Amino acid sequence: MENADLLVELLERLGLLLRTERRRRSSSHGLSEVHLALLDYLARCNRFSNTPGAASEYLGITKGTISQSIKLLESRGLVRKQTDREDKRITRLTLTRAGAALARPREVDAWHAVLEELPKDELAVATRTLRTLLAGLQEKNDYRTFQQCGSCRHLVSDESEYRCGLTRQPLKASDLERICMDHEFGLPDKAVG
Ligand code: SF4
Repeated sequence: MENADLLVELLERLGLLLRTERRRRSSSHGLSEVHLALLDYLARCNRFSNTPGAASEYLGITKGTISQSIKLLESRGLVRKQTDREDKRITRLTLTRAGAALARPREVDAWHAVLEELPKDELAVATRTLRTLLAGLQEKNDYRTFQQCGSCRHLVSDESEYRCGLTRQPLKASDLERICMDHEFGLPDKAVG
C-alpha cells in the first residue's frame, strides 16, 4: 500500500477512535455526540468565534442542528446565550461552569499519555505534518482555517502587547491559545505603531 493510502487509513481509524470516545463520554451524560462537540468547540474558540454560525461551520453541521443543540444545552444549564453588546444581531454562546466541566478534559486525556511517550522530535515532525495536511485540505476545499493567532496575518504585536488587526481588539496571552473563525495564514503584521 502506498504511504499516502496508509496515512489516510490511519487518520480514518484515529478519527473513528476519537468519535467512539466522544460517543461514550456523551452518552454517560445523557447527551449526543453533537452536544459534546459543541461544548468542546466553545471551550476552545476565542471570543470572536463563539456564535452559532461559527460553531456550525467548524463542526460541519447544519445551523438547524446547532440551534436545536443550543436549546437543549441551555435547558440543561450547560450553555448561556447572550446578545452581543455592540451588535444586537449577533448571538454569543458561553459555557457555564457545568458546561466547562463537561468539555473535553484534555489534561487527563488518554491520548496525551500515549503521545507523551513519543520522542519530542518525532512528536514535533508529526504535528508539523498533520498541520500542513489540515491546512492543505482546508485551502483546497475553501474552508476556514480555525487556527490560533500565532500563524495569523492579522496578529499585530510589539514586545509586550498583542492585538487583532482585523477586530482592532487587544489580545491577552490566553486569547492567543484559542482558535478563531477569522484566522488567515500569513506572516503576522508589523509592530504596533
Ligand atoms: S489575529 Fe487572527 S486569529 Fe487572532 S483574533 Fe485576530 S483574526 Fe483571529
